[in-house]
Amino acid sequence: MSREISILLVNPWIFDFAAYNLWIEPLGLEYIASLLKMSGVRVSVIDCLNSKLIKNPREKPNGCSKFKRTTIPKPVALNFVKRHYAMYGISTEEFFDRLKAIEQPDVIMLTSIMTYWYPGVFRTIELLRDFFGKRIPILLGGIYASLCKKHAEAFSGADIVYADRNISPLLKIIENITEKTLKIKRVPESFKEWPIPDHWLFKGKSKNFFAILTQKGCPFRCSYCASPLLNGAIEKRSVESVVQEILVYSKLLDTKNIAFYDDALLLNAPEHLIPILEKVSLNNPNLRFHLPNAIHSRFMTFKIAKIFYETGFKTIRIGFETSNVILQKVTGNKVSNDDYLKSVEVLKKAGYKKEDIGVYILVGLPGQKPSDVEETIKFVDKSGASPYLSFFSPIPQTPLFKKAAEISKIDIEKEPLFQNNSIYILTHPEFSEESIQYLKEMVMDIRKIREKD
Ligand code: SF4
Repeated sequence: MSREISILLVNPWIFDFAAYNLWIEPLGLEYIASLLKMSGVRVSVIDCLNSKLIKNPREKPNGCSKFKRTTIPKPVALNFVKRHYAMYGISTEEFFDRLKAIEQPDVIMLTSIMTYWYPGVFRTIELLRDFFGKRIPILLGGIYASLCKKHAEAFSGADIVYADRNISPLLKIIENITEKTLKIKRVPESFKEWPIPDHWLFKGKSKNFFAILTQKGCPFRCSYCASPLLNGAIEKRSVESVVQEILVYSKLLDTKNIAFYDDALLLNAPEHLIPILEKVSLNNPNLRFHLPNAIHSRFMTFKIAKIFYETGFKTIRIGFETSNVILQKVTGNKVSNDDYLKSVEVLKKAGYKKEDIGVYILVGLPGQKPSDVEETIKFVDKSGASPYLSFFSPIPQTPLFKKAAEISKIDIEKEPLFQNNSIYILTHPEFSEESIQYLKEMVMDIRKIREKD
C-alpha cells in the first residue's frame, strides 16, 4: 500500500444573489498545494468556480468575467428578499465527473471566503459526502471558518474546522488523520518562507490572470475590516521571489494580467514594490497589473504613480471610503481628504485619466447617512476620479460588528447570511431603497460621462 498521502483541495461554489469574477482566485489553497507537494503529498484539486470544459461567460481581456449562474431556491431566512438566488460556478455534473477522475484522497481540504457564502460551502461538503461517504475526513479552513468557527462547527458537516493562522498545527492534523509522515524538511515559520503558490494546478478554461501577494498584513486597523484579524503582523516576501513568480507564471499561464491581493501594496514601496516592478519590466515589459484590493492614498507618490503608468497598471483603485472627516477618524484614520487629493493629483500628473482612477466609497456604515455618501461622491467627482460604491458588510469579530448588530433590524450575529452587503444595507435605518438607487445612479452617471470624455 502506498505510503504517500493523497489530498484533495476544493474551492467551493458561491451561493448569492450576485457574484462577479473580479480576479477571484483561491490563492490560499494554491499556497497550501505548493507546501503539500514539497512535503511529498499527491495533490488533486477541484475549483468549483473555474470550469475545465467551458469558459466563463463574458470574459474580458483584463481577465475578469461573469460566472456560470444557476438559479436555486433561496435559504428560508432570505425569503423576504425579492431577488433570485443562484449557484455560481461549474455544474454539479462536472463536479462529479472531476471527482470520478481523481484518485481517492486520504483527506479533503476545503477553503471558504465570505461568511454569507456558507451555503455554497455546505452544499460542496454535502456532495463530497454523497460521493465518498463519511470515510474521508473533511477539513474546512479559510475566512468563513476563521470568523464563524462555531457556526461552521455546528452546521457545515466538516470533520474539522481549521481557524489557526499557523500552518504547523494543520500539518500535524494531516499526519494524525492519515497516520503517515509528511516529508517536509522545514515547516515555514513566516510568510516569507512559504513556497511560491501553485497557480497552474487551478488552471481552468478561464484563467487569463493570476493573483499575487507580495506582503501580508496591513499597518492600519480600520474598524470595519478583518485584515488585522486574519493576517496578523506585516510580513513581506523577498523581491526576488515575487519577481520569479510573476515572470514564471505569466509565461506558464500565457497571460499578461496580474492582480495584486496585498492589503498594503504601497507600504515601504521604495524597498519593495518599486524594485519588483523595475526588475519585472526589464524582463517582461508587456504585463497588465490590476489593484482590486485598492491602495492607500497616503503612501502614493509621483515616483510610484509614474512607475505604475510605465509598467502597465491598468486598474487603479483607491480605498477612500468617505470624505466625512469624523467618519474617517472613528473608522481608523487610514486616509485624509488631503492625502486623497494629492494621490489623485500625482496619478494624473503621471498620465492617468479621470476614468482610469477608480475610488471606492463605502455605503452603509453604522452612523452613516445617504447625504454623507452623496457628499463623498461629489468630492470624488470634483477631484477628477471615478467613484465606485462598495456596500458595507458587517464582519464578525471586527470592532464595528457590535455596533452594526445594534442598529440592524435583523440578527446579523446569529445568521451569517445577513452579513451579506446587499442584505445588510436593506436593513440600515438611514438608507431606503430609493436613496440606494439614487446613489447608484449618481455614480453610474458620472462614470458614463467619464467614458464619453
Ligand atoms: S487600510 Fe484597508 S486593509 Fe488595512 S485595515 Fe483598513 S480597510 Fe483593512
